[in-house]
Amino acid sequence: MSPLRPLDQSSKLKDVLYEIRGQALVEADRLESEGHAILKLNTGNPASFGFEAPFQIVRDMIEALPHAHGYSDSRGIMSARRAVVSRYEQVAGFPALDPDDVYLGNGVSELITIVMQALLDEGDEVLIPAPDYPLWTAMTSLGGGTPVHYLCDELDGWQPDLDDIRAKITPRTKAIVVINPNNPTGAVYSRQVLEGIAQIARENSLLILSDEIYDRILFDDAAHIPMAVVAPDLLCLTFNGLSKTYRVAGYRSGWLAITGPKTHAAGFLEGIQLLASTRLCANVPAQHAVLAALTGVQSIDALIAPSGRLHEQRDAAWESLEAIPGVSCVRPQGALYAFPRLDPEVYDIPDDGKFVYDFLVAEHVLLVQGTGFNWPTPDHLRIVTLPEARVLTDAIERLGNFLASYRP
Ligand code: PLP
Repeated sequence: MSPLRPLDQSSKLKDVLYEIRGQALVEADRLESEGHAILKLNTGNPASFGFEAPFQIVRDMIEALPHAHGYSDSRGIMSARRAVVSRYEQVAGFPALDPDDVYLGNGVSELITIVMQALLDEGDEVLIPAPDYPLWTAMTSLGGGTPVHYLCDELDGWQPDLDDIRAKITPRTKAIVVINPNNPTGAVYSRQVLEGIAQIARENSLLILSDEIYDRILFDDAAHIPMAVVAPDLLCLTFNGLSKTYRVAGYRSGWLAITGPKTHAAGFLEGIQLLASTRLCANVPAQHAVLAALTGVQSIDALIAPSGRLHEQRDAAWESLEAIPGVSCVRPQGALYAFPRLDPEVYDIPDDGKFVYDFLVAEHVLLVQGTGFNWPTPDHLRIVTLPEARVLTDAIERLGNFLASYRP
């Protein structure tokens, strides 16, 4: 036998990072295998924290199973695509949507991957928020493009900085990504900011990629305005799915809705269709879940109400973080996370990844470092606000005690 040739990963993965499941998770799993209880606050996976799948979704999926064993249309089953169309018909100002402009995918994640592969050539630039949900940056890189991060302004409640967006546009800028409500900051964008982004896209002929997976997870008086509503005259791809609002992340079920003018983008849209075809179709039982979810009781409403579990947990996390000296946190208005700032004048943390690792080993709580969300400086952490309030309060108190040793 000839000697085994070493196999490395492809050079395409050079800039593909996903710290949400990075080295610290490997250590967390190792500690768990040794019998330690680890509080994993690294992923927004509601099922891990006692959130059950809505009964109607499970029941309808089980009923559909005997007839869901064949491939479907590459876009998805018509009944579910029609349900997506009806959902947006109920959103004031959302542009007309045809079922053929809806794609169902194995989660939003797969649809992001398909779209970036269909869109990008070497050197094409994509404007992505900092901080971001890092899959957007990773898939831009994998697609051969160049991620260019625009700043969201913590002093302005993490709203995108329109001047920074404008300053970063070049002749190679092809698209702008908007994540609203935002992961990791919990910001919900104002109409003024969204209109500003739409205007920039209009002036520079940019494709809009709008990740709205948290659009129904809102607190206080926050109101979500879809990008497509403020940019009906532009090509806009809206991403959403069942993982968060319906707490069924494991079903891997999401959709993409394409609105606005399309004739100028026929080639790109054919590319999406081609790649959707090559993976044949999304998991068909999970496509049936879309119909059940969108036409059933919207049980998320009770969870985000002031007396609801998600609302209480958001409050508990935010209050406990604010109680730590040298820590501040913009109060999340939506989504499932808090993104506190550790004042660099108070705490000396040169490497936030090492900090997260050391905190895990010492306290058995797994967080994710801010730089894992493409935030440029090591002075933030992301905390998932899915555990019960007392669990969150305890974990954040332990964070406060641990931080004390980082004071110079
Ligand atoms: N987009 C954002 C902003 C997210 O936070 C997540 C998951 O956390 C995803 C997309 C991926 O969602 P899905 O489970 O539909 O693949």
